[in-house]
Order: sequence, then structure tokens, then C-alpha cells
Amino acid sequence: MESAPPFGEPGRGADAPDVRAHSYRAPQQPGSAPRLISQSATGRLNRTRLLEILYDIGPTTRAELARIAEVTKTTIGSIVQPMIDEGILVEGDPRPSSSLGGKPARPIWFSPSGRPVVAVHLSPERVRAGLVTPTGEITAESSAVFSGTTDAPEAIALLIADAIERVLPAPTGARPLGIGVAVAGIVDTDEGRIVEVNLAPRLSGLQLGPILSRRLGLPVFIDHHPRVQALGDRWFGSGRGVSSFASVYCGEAIGAGFVIGGSVHRGGGGAGGEVGHTIVDLAGAVCRCGRRGCWETIATHRWIRTQAAAVGIPGATALTVGPLASLADSGDATAVDLLDRYARNVAVGLINMQQTLAPGLFVLHGDVVEGGENLRALIEKHVRHGVPDHPSGEPSVEFATTGDDVTLLGATGLVLSQSLELLT
Ligand SMILES: [Zn+2]
Repeated sequence: MESAPPFGEPGRGADAPDVRAHSYRAPQQPGSAPRLISQSATGRLNRTRLLEILYDIGPTTRAELARIAEVTKTTIGSIVQPMIDEGILVEGDPRPSSSLGGKPARPIWFSPSGRPVVAVHLSPERVRAGLVTPTGEITAESSAVFSGTTDAPEAIALLIADAIERVLPAPTGARPLGIGVAVAGIVDTDEGRIVEVNLAPRLSGLQLGPILSRRLGLPVFIDHHPRVQALGDRWFGSGRGVSSFASVYCGEAIGAGFVIGGSVHRGGGGAGGEVGHTIVDLAGAVCRCGRRGCWETIATHRWIRTQAAAVGIPGATALTVGPLASLADSGDATAVDLLDRYARNVAVGLINMQQTLAPGLFVLHGDVVEGGENLRALIEKHVRHGVPDHPSGEPSVEFATTGDDVTLLGATGLVLSQSLELLT
């Protein structure tokens, strides 16, 4: 059964023309709301806030929601009931009442049959698309690799659109809320344009948001990959319920998304998060971006391979973090030393972030995670050593356990977080 259209659109199949959705929608800046709000806007804000609480803490009863939101159960009921009627939320199986044998409480949660989201991860060589339920289950997936024959940006945009079309539900199914795209490069979120992808210059300048929106008739939201990853952590991963943290991708490139006070920070037009290109050594090696001494030059596989070759570790030219950590675990002194230096180099960037924004928690993704608990502990030790003591406590480093799916889940969060404002 299709739920009521949250955007006030007329109900229809996915293939019907959509004149409203043809305009690209830029992700909203946090804090862009007016300072004073009208009474009608209060209802919308309460609704958004309640949905955020649900995503933070999972399935929750009306009584628990009332306690957390510091309002009466009646108020919660008046916010929740319309969303149940619209098919956005559902009531789960009754939980035994904890005291006095009252009526068993039923936890409220997002409806798995509510409108799904199309989530897209655009890497330099590949696109992965998924259809994701509001509860975070990926129900359909497709992918495409850009071959040498499809170098034209327009041809790549068509490949991306084709990959998305393969996961769209049948016209009789629930119409997706929108398309969320994570781009491994600099984006202009206002225009839906890819500004620059260091590892794939041919994607630079591509107006992906408007192209996809026109072709597929759905609202499209585009953002920087690590920021989308932060949303995945925030809504579906270890950042759930955590008000501030940094989600760091540390692979062939390095980037970060910051959740500060519950919101993902987004610079003007989607700028920022390019922490891999913060300079850590004025006299360092020349970076892919053309500048000198960027963090990326000392904390990626390229650095590990160069150093491994210099100290004579076998297979240095193809060495990755996982095998280096295994070699160190086996007691190889050269590998132990190199792994520690790598951990220290990763820590340098985290220390700079902690000194600037104090996220307190760093959730690491990408190649670095292959290093396992030994490497995580080393990085955390170096980070703690590198920042001054503060009453707020020591920073923590976690390795993500969500794998590649976190990006698709984050792209889902990108659409959901923009759509919740509109679920009124
Ligand atoms: Zn750089």
C-alpha cells in the first residue's frame, strides 16, 4: 500500500511525469530557520524533532518518547498519530508493561513499507545505486563501472541514471522520496554540480543533480562523500544518539564529515571536509592536488608503500594496511615500527580536527580499518597524546563496522533528513 504523499504531491506511479520534482533541491543549511517561529511552524518542528529522536534511539514507546521530549503522552500522541495514519510510522508488537500490569506498550518505528529512498555512491571509477527502506534495509542494488569508452561526462551521467533506473520500484510500488548521491570529490550542493574529483578529472563540472532530476522526475540531493558517510553513522551506525563526532574516510583519499550538536556541518555550497588537504608539513611531498605537505601525503597507501620499500619490507609496492598490520602482529620489528609511524601520521590529522572542533569521537572508515584493533589502539594513543587534557574527557577513535553500505545508508539519511522537514 502506498503511503500518503508527504510532499503533498498527487499519488501516482513512479513513471508518471512529475512537474514539481524537476527542479534540483539543494540540501538545507543547518540553522537556516528563522529566529522566531510561527505557531504553525512549531507543529512542523515538533514533528521533525520527534523523528530525529526516533532515529537516534530506535523503536520507542509513546511513554518513552514523552519522557525524552519532556512533553505529555497526549502531546506525543497528537504528533505521532497523523504520521501513523500516513504510513510513515508504524506501531510494533506490544512490549510487556514494566510496572503495575498496565496496557502493554507498543513501540513506534518507521514503517519498512514507507516510501523508500534511492541511494547512490559515485566513486571515481564506479557507481553503486541502492533502493533503501526508511528503516535502512537495502532491498535492490545495481552498479556500473565507467569504461574508457564512456569518458564524456554526459555519457557517465546516463550510466548513473541507468543504474538508478534498475533499482526503482515498479510503477505500482511506493514512489521513492528522492535520490541521495554521495560524490567522492568536491561538490557544489547548491547547484548539484560536481566541482572536482582528483581521482577522476572527467567528472569535474558535471551538473549531475539537475540531469538526474530531469531524467528521473525525483528530487535529487548531492553531497560530499565523507559528509554523507557521517550521516550514515549518525542515522544508522555508531554515531546514532551521539551529538558530536567526526566521520573520517581514510583510504586512497582522506575526507571528513562533522556532526556538531546533532547536525552535519556543511560549508557554504557544500564546501569543507577536505581534511586530506590540510597541510601538515610545509616542506613535505607534493600532493595530488598540487600543494605541498598535505595530510594525504603521509597517511595513505602511497606513503606506506614508499616507506615499506625504503625499509625493505617484501611486497612493498602493493602493500596495504591489512597485511602490514598482520606482519606487525607477527612480531616483525620493521613492520611494528612502520605501523606505529603510520598510526602517528593518521593521528596528526585527527589531532588537528580535535583541536579545532573537539568532536570527541572519530569514526574511521576506509583502508585504515583493515588494520584492526592493534592499529585502532595505536591511533587513539597518539591522538590522546597529541591533545591537551580537558575536563570533557579524552577523544576516542573507533573503526566503523558498517563497511561500504554506510555510504548508501548515509545517502538515504541525506534524503530523509531533508524530507523530514517536509513531512508536514
Ligand atoms: Zn593536497
